[in-house]
Amino acid sequence: MEQLKIREKGLTTAEAEKKLKECGHNVLEVSKRKSAIGMFLAQFNDFIIWVLIGATILSGLMGEVADAVTIIIIVIMNAILGFVQEFKTEKSLEELKRLASPTAKVIRDGSIKVVNAEDLVPGDYIVFESGDKIPADGYLVKEASLSVDESLLTGESVGVQKNIADENKFFMGTTTINGKGEGIITNTGMSTEMGKIAHLLNNIKEEKSPLKEKLTSLGKVLVVICVAICVIVTVMGIIRGQDKYQMFLLGVSLAVAAIPEGLAAIVTVCLALGVSKMLKKNALIRKLPAVETLGCTSVICSDKTGTLTQNKMTVKAVYYDDKIKEIDDNKLDNNEMLKKIFTYCNDLNIDIAEESIKDALIGDATEKALVLAYYDDIKEFEKRVSSFNKIKENPFDSIRKLMSIRIDEGGNRITLVKGAPERVLDRCKQIYINGKIRPISQGDKKNIQNAIDKMSERALRCLAGAFKYNEGDLEEDLIFVGVIGMIDPPRKEVKEAVDKCIKAGITPIMITGDHRKTAYAIGKDLNICNNSSEVIDGVELNRLSEEELNKKLDNIRIFARVSPKDKLRIVKAFKKKNKIVAMTGDGVNDAPAIKEADIGVAMGVNGTDVTKEAAAMVLLDDNFNTIVSAVEEGRVIYGNIRKFIRYLLSCNLGEVLTMFLSSLFALPTPLLPIQILFVNLATDGLPAIALGLDPGEKNIMDEKPRDKKEGVFARGLKEKILVRGVLIGVCTVLSFIIGTYFNFDLKTCRTMALTTLVLSQLIHVFECKSEKLPLFKIDIFNNKYLVLAVLSSILMMLAVIYIPFLSTVFHTSQLTLMQWSIILFFSLIISFINSLFNMIEKEK
Ligand code: ADP
Ligand code: MG
Repeated sequence: MEQLKIREKGLTTAEAEKKLKECGHNVLEVSKRKSAIGMFLAQFNDFIIWVLIGATILSGLMGEVADAVTIIIIVIMNAILGFVQEFKTEKSLEELKRLASPTAKVIRDGSIKVVNAEDLVPGDYIVFESGDKIPADGYLVKEASLSVDESLLTGESVGVQKNIADENKFFMGTTTINGKGEGIITNTGMSTEMGKIAHLLNNIKEEKSPLKEKLTSLGKVLVVICVAICVIVTVMGIIRGQDKYQMFLLGVSLAVAAIPEGLAAIVTVCLALGVSKMLKKNALIRKLPAVETLGCTSVICSDKTGTLTQNKMTVKAVYYDDKIKEIDDNKLDNNEMLKKIFTYCNDLNIDIAEESIKDALIGDATEKALVLAYYDDIKEFEKRVSSFNKIKENPFDSIRKLMSIRIDEGGNRITLVKGAPERVLDRCKQIYINGKIRPISQGDKKNIQNAIDKMSERALRCLAGAFKYNEGDLEEDLIFVGVIGMIDPPRKEVKEAVDKCIKAGITPIMITGDHRKTAYAIGKDLNICNNSSEVIDGVELNRLSEEELNKKLDNIRIFARVSPKDKLRIVKAFKKKNKIVAMTGDGVNDAPAIKEADIGVAMGVNGTDVTKEAAAMVLLDDNFNTIVSAVEEGRVIYGNIRKFIRYLLSCNLGEVLTMFLSSLFALPTPLLPIQILFVNLATDGLPAIALGLDPGEKNIMDEKPRDKKEGVFARGLKEKILVRGVLIGVCTVLSFIIGTYFNFDLKTCRTMALTTLVLSQLIHVFECKSEKLPLFKIDIFNNKYLVLAVLSSILMMLAVIYIPFLSTVFHTSQLTLMQWSIILFFSLIISFINSLFNMIEKEK
């Protein structure tokens, strides 16, 4: 396969656009989308709501028309709130799916472009290599050691070797497992082979969130308890001779208000919110439950090159003829053989439309650095590479850590090899030194090793070059020439992120194919390790038994010179220690480790489709920092879910207890059905949703990661909910009792109970912002949605009391200053008592 000159191939953008209109997008239409109306109607898909509607219609027929209409309006408003929430969630999840869909490399307007696979059309010239998903059906034009996994079509999970002579078709949905290919698309979308069997793909299951499942089963228990209490309240009322029918409506209304039906659904909402927030920070979540797991991450295993470092390599030193030479700005030009090896033997493409050589070279950063060390001018380089033909190629892979080609240069054949120095050296029998070839001696090897050590200690990534004239195996019997060393500086922000991890009880681990000394130099710079004993290399790792590794693991921070298959072992070892592991990867070979990890992380820029597909999260900027921000966001989201649960359950408990206690003490019912429904609308609606948008607590990254197995109510949440729920209930009843004590009429007493209940919940919502701080220490204004939601709920409450029409409908009466004082006292005293408790606890 000769160097690709892309200007002659492919469609123009205009042609492609025209074709796209004719043939449609390259997608398989499998999933049915939920319609908006269906989603709205689903809000009523709840037995208890139907009982309420039935009871309401009955009451309407019996003359309570105003009540009935209001109840129906409230039910509809609640449904609208639920609908808006679900619709937005669904939308953002759909957007996510679109973003996570694969891309393809295509030649358009004479240059190579990455487009969404959806936008491919018949006639497009595409390029794919190891790890790429093949985006459509077509035929091959060129290939090099191409092997494709077609198991999705044939069911056979062995790679199919492709060569143009007898097997030149490629198919959508298959993946390249080795080598590379180029070809022309013939069919897209539903007219592909895959399209014909697309209906089979319909059954892809959504992944379940463990938290959601826990809450669903908790929800069921709560429903039973709630219904039981509602029945008790109703029956006791009836026994005491109150109107049967009114009591029934009351019981049903209470059930509607108090049953936490939104409990499990909110998890999806919060996770989806988290997903869009993370996307803004360059982390694309592919599996919703990952948001939840992210917060528990205790080990982050990260690739070095490109993730911890900038992947901007510059050649700094070169070694040949037993001398190390420093390279500054001058171009390297002394050793003709080394130049050939390092500039011919690569997989770079040239985009001829670009002027500067930096932009014109497309491909691996390491290989670009090599060419840039020798050439200033792209024209000159292009001229050189068109002077030979590639006859054979063995592409680079991170297991061999070698790349080799055989070329024909005007009739002269020569094999060029570059790769990790020890690997190259192992395959050399001779050395090319001071213009002569002679057998390589132990002394030579020692000198070379010394040079490699010296360069590696300076954090240089080293590659050796070798060649040979004979025709045998590409990577045997070579002649050693020299070593080149390049620097890949760490990303600036990474050190801070590493410190953040350590503070947050998360261990950052570096994994690299580079030499241990190179890895250590960079790791030390980034604070990932402080001692060279914390580095282990692939050879040493393979010598360790599972037990030995398990023992040693806590003291390892860097895995050097490892190959992708070692990653799987590393993940498993950490998991065995009950760690929650995030693991990054880019190549095909990384996919198993990524799948095995709790959080598989793929590279968005330099990653292959196969790894992206296996991953739970894709880094759009390949940056380590992004992982850490995602973990932080994961903690925030989980915290918000807890805030939500705390708020919702303590409020509902307060509502149920209000009714239960008053029924126990044989008081008149403190709230009418319509009032209970109003409380539910004003407090469970907007404020609860806004809580899901809360920023995290300040010190959220100063704590150890939470245990993945911990229950929903762990760390004191249950106690908080119970205490607060009881306090809300008791204070509401007390406010009602004080009203009767002062001989206010029943309507006024009910209005007092209603406002006390609403206000104490609206105050409580701010307390839920923090699990540690008392109310007066919380920044209550840092979530503007919450402030707005609470203000609108207060306005609703005032409207219900002071707008005469509404006041008639809701059976309320206007309150005096003295009555307001009682209400405020009872709403605030709860927080006061709570803060007191909080302080006492701190003292302990
Ligand atoms: P990393 O984990 O840093 O990406 P790699 O597996 O890519 O590690 O590289 C490991 C070693 O292989 C490098 O130190 C270098 O010696 C060699 N190497 C890297 N890229 C190439 C390449 N394109 N051709 C030949 N050798 C390479
Ligand atoms: Mg690499």
